Parts: sequence; C-alpha cells; structure tokens
Amino acid sequence: MTTARAVVLDKPLGTFRLEEFPVPDPAPGTVLVRMELSGCCATDVHTYLGQWQTAFPALLGHENVGQVESTGPGGQQDYLGRELKAGDRLFARWGWCGQCYECRTLQPRRCRNRSSSGGTPMPFSGGFAEYLYLNSPQTTFMLKMDTPASTAVLSEPLGVAVTAVRRAQPRLGETVVVQGCGAIGLLTLGLAKLSGATRAIVIGGPAARLEVARAFGADVCIDIDRVRDPSERTRAVLAETPAGLGAELVFGCVGLAPAWLEGISYVRDGGRFMELGLASDTGDVVFNPSTQLVARNISLMGTLGLESYQDAVVAGRILEASRLPFELMVSHQLPLERVGDAIHALNSDYQVDGKTALKIAIAPNGPVA
Ligand SMILES: [Zn+2]
Ligand SMILES: [Zn+2]
Repeated sequence: MTTARAVVLDKPLGTFRLEEFPVPDPAPGTVLVRMELSGCCATDVHTYLGQWQTAFPALLGHENVGQVESTGPGGQQDYLGRELKAGDRLFARWGWCGQCYECRTLQPRRCRNRSSSGGTPMPFSGGFAEYLYLNSPQTTFMLKMDTPASTAVLSEPLGVAVTAVRRAQPRLGETVVVQGCGAIGLLTLGLAKLSGATRAIVIGGPAARLEVARAFGADVCIDIDRVRDPSERTRAVLAETPAGLGAELVFGCVGLAPAWLEGISYVRDGGRFMELGLASDTGDVVFNPSTQLVARNISLMGTLGLESYQDAVVAGRILEASRLPFELMVSHQLPLERVGDAIHALNSDYQVDGKTALKIAIAPNGPVA
C-alpha cells in the first residue's frame, strides 16, 4: 500500500506534525488529487489560534491546486461539466451543496449541509498534504485550470475579490481606496481598476507590498509605517481624492475592527464602503449611525468571502486570461515541514527567510512553476 504525508494540527495553538497515511483508492464519484500548491491565509491563522470553529485534530489548507491523479470508477466532471483526466490541473474548494433552501434562495455560504472539510474525512482533507481526496463531489467545487499552479492557487482569494467587486461596482471615473495590501487587498485593487475605476489609492504596508500594489494599478500608495497616526492617515488619503472630499468607493481589506471605522472616514458623502477583510470577529467599535451613516448618505456593505461558485468561475477566467501580474503574488513556496513557519509569519511580521511574505504557498510535492 502506498502512503503519503499530511500535516496535522493537534489542537488550537498546538504543533503541526508531519504524519504518514495510506493513500485511498478513489471510490466511485471521488477524485484523488496530487497536490501542487496550497495557499496559506488569515483563515488558517484564525484556525490555529482557535478563533474559528474547527474539529481537531485538523488538516488545514483550503486554497488548493493540484493535478488529478485518478478518479473513481465511472469518472467525474468539473463544475463546468468537463471530464476530468489524469494530469488535469484542478482547483478544488469545498463548501456548499447547491440543493438546500439556503443555497437556492439565500446565499450558498449559509448552506445547511456545509462542512469545513466538505465531508472529506481525515487524513487527506486539507491541502497541506501530498494528496487531497475529494470524496464528497456534491459539496465540492472543482474547476479545471489552464494556467500555471502558482497562478491557479490564487483562485480562492481572487474569488473573494470578485464577489466584493461585483457587489460594490467600481465605475468609470471613480476614485477607489483600498485599505490594506495583503493578498486580498491587492487582488481587489487589480479588479477594481479592471472594472473601470479611474484612480486607486492604496493604504497599507510594508513597502515591499506597496511595490506590488503599484504593479496591480495603484496610482497612490500611502505607507502606514510612515503615516502612523490614524487622523493623519485620513488627511493623507482625503488629500488624494477629488476636491479632498473622499473616495466614491472604499474597500476595507485589513481585518481589524478599528480599521473599519477609519476606512469609513475615507468615503465621500454619498459613497460606498465594502468590508471584506473582517472574516473573524475582532471586537466592537463605537459607531454613530446618525452622523457617520445617515447624515452622510453612505452605503455600507460587507462580505465574508466567495459567495457563489459563479464568482469562482469568473476568477478562473481572469486568471487564465492573465489580466493582472499574478506571478508577483506567490512570494514563497515552502515544504510541508514548514507549515508552522508560514502560519507564524502570517501571525506576526510577515517575514520568511528575510523576505516579506505576500502569498505563502505550501508545495507538498516540491516547488512548481
Ligand atoms: Zn483563504
Ligand atoms: Zn446547501
């Protein structure tokens, strides 16, 4: 029997242990994927810190790209009905069933049949492993990708940005502000410019990320390491907007409640604010709905992330068309042994091997293109 390695997190704040498991023979309807890259993101940090409802021991890694190793008897198709063959590059994400009341009438994210592992049991239920076993096709999204693995691995975060940009609708002539320049902020920035925004102001750091922001279309970058005082930052942002009155649209991509409040101060009267960074609860803020919302005629929006599989299909098309410098996004490919290093870096100063991390991807079977 063949065995393969997977990284197991025993408990919140626990240790990432490399363990060996037998590789399953795919049952009918299932797909066995040989992993290429699995992106690390804030969600993994929240899971590590115990802020996210997860069963332990846990296998992390939800931004997964790999090659089809084999399908169960009878074969399997991707979301668009294309037959899966050995060697096909596949983006896989588990989530919702598409059948229940919530999926059909509310939003798929509220699926009542949803589970964090898509029903896939240990041990190959996360991307930080040599194989991924997709054994619950009903709640798994699979999309063949005709793009290098280091680009395809952005499907999930780009899908999050697609959802936010589709709903917030940047328009021709508008000035947008993107607050935060992690992977989500940069991808949102790029899509906002692609969708018609004329001017983009990015506020974030460190400097290495702001360099990438320029490549993704930022016209102005404000470095939070230099402008540390929030009210000074707000003045600096407003000074870059038409007539100094604020931006028509602001995307909040920081993930901290106080930053949310600051972001609203960048919006001009009648403008829109879309929060997409607050995937976990970082506490309350004092907000005056009369003076800060109604009197200013502002629209507030929020999204937890990728809201539909359609948005993931759109993300796939944008990646395949190479419409943005996606090759700049994966800053590190690390082996399974270094999952802990990746998570700790994302939870501290974003430094790995002396270089600022942007998107760290785990490469379970060695570095890939
Ligand atoms: Zn993610
Ligand atoms: Zn459902």
